[in-house]
Amino acid sequence: MRARVLLTLLLVLALAAPVRAGGKDDRLFQASVLPALLAGDYAGSFGAGEILAKGNFGLGTFENLDGEMVVLDGVIWQVPASGQVRRMDAAAKSPFACVAFFEPDLRLPVASAANLEDLDRQLDAALPGLNRFYALRLDGRMRVKARSVPRQDKPWRPLAEVVKEQSVFDLGELEGTLVGLRCPAFAASLNVSGYHWHFLSKDRTRGGHVLDCSFTNLSVAVDRLSSLELRLPKAAAFDGLDLSGDRSAQVKAVEKSPEAKK
Ligand SMILES: [Zn+2]
Repeated sequence: MRARVLLTLLLVLALAAPVRAGGKDDRLFQASVLPALLAGDYAGSFGAGEILAKGNFGLGTFENLDGEMVVLDGVIWQVPASGQVRRMDAAAKSPFACVAFFEPDLRLPVASAANLEDLDRQLDAALPGLNRFYALRLDGRMRVKARSVPRQDKPWRPLAEVVKEQSVFDLGELEGTLVGLRCPAFAASLNVSGYHWHFLSKDRTRGGHVLDCSFTNLSVAVDRLSSLELRLPKAAAFDGLDLSGDRSAQVKAVEKSPEAKK
């Protein structure tokens, strides 16, 4: 009898194991595509619930381009142009967001990073390959320069124009988390190829899209993502956008620090 109970228990455990393994989700969820955002599609096509059902970690922006989005530990944070960080509720909407369930596969120690380009270069050399999507998380004390974008009214202007009016925050040295995403070069028509970093301070009062960053002795937790779920906006306005052509110059203008522009 006892052996039978044990056997049943083992069977239950064996059946439960694949369920746990199924919790390991190596998928990046992407709401809309970068060219649509560049073209000025700031409609809140995706709800907070939909985004959080697809990941607990990531970045994006909000309806009407109302600031930078940081998704960390299953909470959506807004860094508006005022710099006053807000925790968002279920009513939040987004035109563009990328999230994953963060489950690190490896840790990469970084002895020091002189600036953001230096960090990106070191990570490129240390990652097992550059043909996958990666979610990257870096916690600790760092020096950060971040930005946010001002909320827009219709008619919406292209992102490259709006970014000229961005608010830049020199946050100095502080404790916090870098929330990063790295997309492979072949994903350039969908998203920012290479690294895209957002920041949120440990006390959840500062943050933004990272323009520059430096630190010593931190390690980067990396989640290798091997699949992509792409969802396009349902609204008819999306069908009317002209998303053809090469936008790499626009992406550079939008993502980088004004001084870093070449
Ligand atoms: Zn950003």
